[in-house]
Amino acid sequence: MPTLITTMALILGRRPWSESSQIVTMMTPDQGRLNAVARGARKLTSEMGPALEPITESQVILSQSPRSDMANVRSAEIVEHFAALRHSLVRVTVASAACEFAARALPEGEANPSAYDHVRTALAGIAATADRDAVNWLWRGLMDLAGDLGYAMQFDRCVQCGASDLPHPAFSVADGGPVCERCSAATMRPWLPETQAALIRLAAASAGAVGADRITKRVNRDIRGLVEEYFRYHIPGFDHLRSLDVLTSLSAAGAASGPGPDESAGVE
Ligand SMILES: [Zn+2]
Repeated sequence: MPTLITTMALILGRRPWSESSQIVTMMTPDQGRLNAVARGARKLTSEMGPALEPITESQVILSQSPRSDMANVRSAEIVEHFAALRHSLVRVTVASAACEFAARALPEGEANPSAYDHVRTALAGIAATADRDAVNWLWRGLMDLAGDLGYAMQFDRCVQCGASDLPHPAFSVADGGPVCERCSAATMRPWLPETQAALIRLAAASAGAVGADRITKRVNRDIRGLVEEYFRYHIPGFDHLRSLDVLTSLSAAGAASGPGPDESAGVE
């Protein structure tokens, strides 16, 4: 007899499995990240299809047979579609990067209700903010998830000696924090003083303040480089946030007509 599980799930990604079925990657509070087969979900008439779109929170019923290592999706109903972000390519892209990271970084089958809340909060934040500030929610989500995964980051004191005289010249990806001029670490990454200041603000910001912080493109580039280097160090096989490459090409296309690249917020 298969076991039936009813759970909330954030849909992170999906890929075709057969002509009519797909494999859906989702995260749940109590089962962690998992892949499940959704039979018939690729048919136009499938009622499950929209509830299994990436960047959706749905209530799903999974059936797990002892003979199979992959669960089946029996039914799926949309709880939150984050509709506000679907009008914007920038925000869909930033939300996709959050889902991409969760799918890549979360261990399979390990309960992590805090990680679930953090991804959900980031997606809701990206949906509720303007394009130029959406990436703030991605950075904040990634730092919260790093803590959930056991390699928390902090930005306001030297990881070696605790000194809090800012700015610190570099960030240690091995230790997850800044390093002062008097100390040194094996795996240091230089960063801009503005990057440290922005990360301190974002890490401490209330939900209302995350999306209101105007971070320049130059600093967003530095933050992106830093978090990608940090996760390369901590997650085997991680390379970079592929979803964000779309923004790089959008930005390159708009550079000829827009303002200087460092004068406005946004990411690339
Ligand atoms: Zn120090």
